[in-house]
Amino acid sequence: MTTTPDPDTLRADVLVVGGGPAGTWAALAAAATGATVVLADKGHCGSSGATAAAGTGIWYVGPDPEDRARAKASREALGGHLAEHHWMDRVLDRTYELVGDLATRGRYPFPRDGDGREIRTGVQGPEYMRRMRTRVLRAGVRVLDHSPVTELLVDAEGSVSGAAGVRLRRGGTYRVEAGAVVLATGGCAFRSGTLGCHPNTGDGALLAVEAGAGLSGMEFSNAYAIAPAGTSLTKTAYYTYATFLHADGTVLDGAGSTRGRSTIARALLDEPVYCVLDRADDDVRTAMRLGQPNFFLPFDRLGIDPFTEPFPVTLLLEGTVRGTGGVHVTGDDCSTGVPGLYVAGDTATRELVCGGFTGGGSHNAAWAMSSGSWAGDGAARHARCRTGVRPVLRPGGDAGLRPGGARPGPGPHESEVVAEVQRRVLPYETNLFRTGIGLAAALAGLDDVWTQVRTALRPASHSARDVLRAREAAAMTAHARWMYSAALARTESRGMHRRTDHPDLDPAQHHRLRVHGLDRITLTPSPVGDREPTTAVVR
Ligand SMILES: Cc1cc2nc3c(=O)[nH]c(=O)nc-3n(C[C@H](O)[C@H](O)[C@H](O)COP(=O)(O)OP(=O)(O)OC[C@H]3O[C@@H](n4cnc5c(N)ncnc54)[C@H](O)[C@@H]3O)c2cc1C
Repeated sequence: MTTTPDPDTLRADVLVVGGGPAGTWAALAAAATGATVVLADKGHCGSSGATAAAGTGIWYVGPDPEDRARAKASREALGGHLAEHHWMDRVLDRTYELVGDLATRGRYPFPRDGDGREIRTGVQGPEYMRRMRTRVLRAGVRVLDHSPVTELLVDAEGSVSGAAGVRLRRGGTYRVEAGAVVLATGGCAFRSGTLGCHPNTGDGALLAVEAGAGLSGMEFSNAYAIAPAGTSLTKTAYYTYATFLHADGTVLDGAGSTRGRSTIARALLDEPVYCVLDRADDDVRTAMRLGQPNFFLPFDRLGIDPFTEPFPVTLLLEGTVRGTGGVHVTGDDCSTGVPGLYVAGDTATRELVCGGFTGGGSHNAAWAMSSGSWAGDGAARHARCRTGVRPVLRPGGDAGLRPGGARPGPGPHESEVVAEVQRRVLPYETNLFRTGIGLAAALAGLDDVWTQVRTALRPASHSARDVLRAREAAAMTAHARWMYSAALARTESRGMHRRTDHPDLDPAQHHRLRVHGLDRITLTPSPVGDREPTTAVVR
């Protein structure tokens, strides 16, 4: 399993990086235009990533104008009024269409209600993604499993023209030369232990920023989700039916799944918190079992009836998986401003549809589908316009791959880098209860870690796994710095971003914060709905 000097080289019109819902919908959309498509996944496309392991509620709303208006209003205030109606309308339309396609052409077995109507507001991850893999293969897409992309390939003009990666199973490296690339590698959950999120180390955003793309909404990347203590299964929506308790059985006042999560976090700093799903009536209980059977697996295994018996809970950080930050989208086709580069799913910002509030529970799944289909289609169209002589390509990656220190010496081990990052991003004290002082201290530490990454982090060996691990450590460090740089700059409380030292919403900060750069991070306030930034602020 060591890398070889002569990589396998493949050619395609479109390369899709990542094979979760966003990547598979992108691949289908690109293939539908007649483009040749390669899809590379870090794990096994169909069983890797946040959806495949769990299941998702979907923002599936029929065309009735009142239903649509209600759906759009549902998170607008929670998201600090940063979502855009143009994007919400597009996502609702496209999701309605694609879920219909999943039911008919994909033959997804949606459960039925008492009147025999399909309940299309959720999917079970394993079944959904199994079908998506089959559909992608049937569409003629070449799927490279266990083949993480480690860097993009760029031509002399800066156009993204493919990517290089490693083969985890059989060893060696590979490259795909392509007319356009869709990044759909999911978000960054900082290895917090959430089910399915182990591969979600934010690789796509690092690749995009190295190529020159910007980010947006990074201050809203601190979603913590509720899970039974000692397990990895987060399903916050179901905790709407919960009562949260102290160890002595008395009610924990103010605790809740939507607005009361910080009460739970505050209590967890001092004591265990328990919960019982006693507010679900018989019909809801049946619907919950039917909708997300995997939610009950840990309870069934432990012999606990969650509807009647209190069980301890914890909160796990889900970063940009259920937070809303990601690569800034510059066009309706999910382009990024970098020629040849498109983004989809959790790799892209979801600020456009969720504002500053989590996209979990429905919006993220809808965004993954719709942005995937737009990005795949956009990438295929871009590739079609690129004709002529094949350009000379240069590798576009650095951090974790090619340290820039003057003298090669023993650098940090990737596991030390990850531990240093986690020490600063996982604690509720720093990332949930945010203060200027706390954020600045954490950021200063992360800046030091980044300097080490830049100058000295290199793969521990030439094995494909070690190359990947070093790159993942670099991506997580970069994410942590982008997240805290934006959080420090937003001196108010809005959406999920709560500043203890600035507890109120400041109408003057009703803007997006665009983040650029790796070594030197720049923050640019940008009006909501406006695609051009105003004056840049350098951190
Ligand atoms: C437990 C849980 C429950 C959730 N429930 C809901 C819900 O009810 N409703 C909702 O809207 N959202 C929900 N979410 C969020 C939702 O799962 C994500 O928004 C969705 O999976 C995003 O799809 P994606 O394709 O962008 O990313 P993912 O599904 O994470 O897929 C990313 C893929 O990229 C691959 N990859 C990563 N790095 C690389 C690389 N370097 N090279 C190649 N491939 C790579 C991974 O292996 C993976 O296959 C939930 C999340 C979790 C964790």
